[in-house]
Amino acid sequence: MQRVHNIRLNPTPQQTEYLRKACGTARFAFNWGLAEWQRQYAAGEKPSAYALKKQFNTIKREQFPWVLDVSKCAVDTGFRNLDAAFKRFFRRCKNGDTKKGYPKFKSKKRSKLSFRMDGTRVRVDGHWLTLERLDKPINMAEVLRFDGEIRSVTISEHGGHWYAAINVEVEPPKHKHPQGSVGIDVGVKTLAVLSDGMRYENQVLLRSKLRKLKRLNRELSRRQKGSGRWNHTRKKLARFHRRIADKRLDYLHNMTTRIARTYRIIGVEDLNVAGMLRNRRLALSIADAGFGEIQRQLRYKSEWYGGILVEVDRFFPSSRLCPMCGEIKSDLTLRDRTFVCACGYVADRDVNGAQNIEREALRLMSRGRSGFTDSLNGREQNVRPFGAVLDEASKLAEERQPSRPAVV
Ligand SMILES: [Zn+2]
Repeated sequence: MQRVHNIRLNPTPQQTEYLRKACGTARFAFNWGLAEWQRQYAAGEKPSAYALKKQFNTIKREQFPWVLDVSKCAVDTGFRNLDAAFKRFFRRCKNGDTKKGYPKFKSKKRSKLSFRMDGTRVRVDGHWLTLERLDKPINMAEVLRFDGEIRSVTISEHGGHWYAAINVEVEPPKHKHPQGSVGIDVGVKTLAVLSDGMRYENQVLLRSKLRKLKRLNRELSRRQKGSGRWNHTRKKLARFHRRIADKRLDYLHNMTTRIARTYRIIGVEDLNVAGMLRNRRLALSIADAGFGEIQRQLRYKSEWYGGILVEVDRFFPSSRLCPMCGEIKSDLTLRDRTFVCACGYVADRDVNGAQNIEREALRLMSRGRSGFTDSLNGREQNVRPFGAVLDEASKLAEERQPSRPAVV
């Protein structure tokens, strides 16, 4: 299985020059390919990124000799991105989406600086990263934390710093989970509530920093666009955004690692994040909390530790369902923090939601349905026999049946 370690780089000015050049080459190859694609298409031909790359390679030595100053991976990146951009475009056309997103030319100013190196064309040695066609190795702020074959390295710039995302093929560890199962209710007020009562508060990092953000934005709008001061403020703003994002990501990583290490079966709601983001009042909180990111991290981390992530249908009424009588409370609003059922069942709203998600996940598992089979099949080794997992889920499902509260 593959894991990525993102490491900050400390390049010298000459090395920065190389990195910029490689990104520029990737962008140039993309734009050249896009222009040629459009020309060929207009001429009634059927262009492909692969054929265009071959065509480019036959002329590059004569027409664009400077692309040879950097690794060939830079040109490859451009055509790979072109291929991906058209694939996305064709898929959206097929789906009948309103926004088709025809590939656009990448501008020097606006497009993200990035390129990808093949694992065979880099070398990592302690704090040093050697790239093809770059004579001296680049210093890395950290040592690579994974042991294994390097598949690829994506180098990019964010907020004035350079980073290398190193993709490594690794053997998952042998891990024993202390707990059988859990359900997670992700929310706006509290970031996540677990079925065993554990709470992760939403730090609302963005909100507390909103004032500084507004000030910087005002500062930027006062400056003359394109001027030296404008650029200075723009960079300051980018660095600030990056710092907030880093902190939030750190918090999410801590949380998801703990969950993935502790519980073998993890039930989460398959939230339609895109749909929820359209609700404007909720949008800031949700973007702040990073719902999609939580799910993404849990998916690969539970796989890493040999656990199973079960995504419960997002139309499952997790927080509105009474586990005692099966009644669905349709008038429960976001304001109601306590779940009170006519049958006498009372519970914390979020914990009730999390417990319902856990039960539903176990039910789906013991019935052998739902998407979790995919993630299970994706793992070739280190997986217990399928039947054993299902037996475990059935047992847990029985244990997790609600009991009547002592006082009704
Ligand atoms: Zn009830």
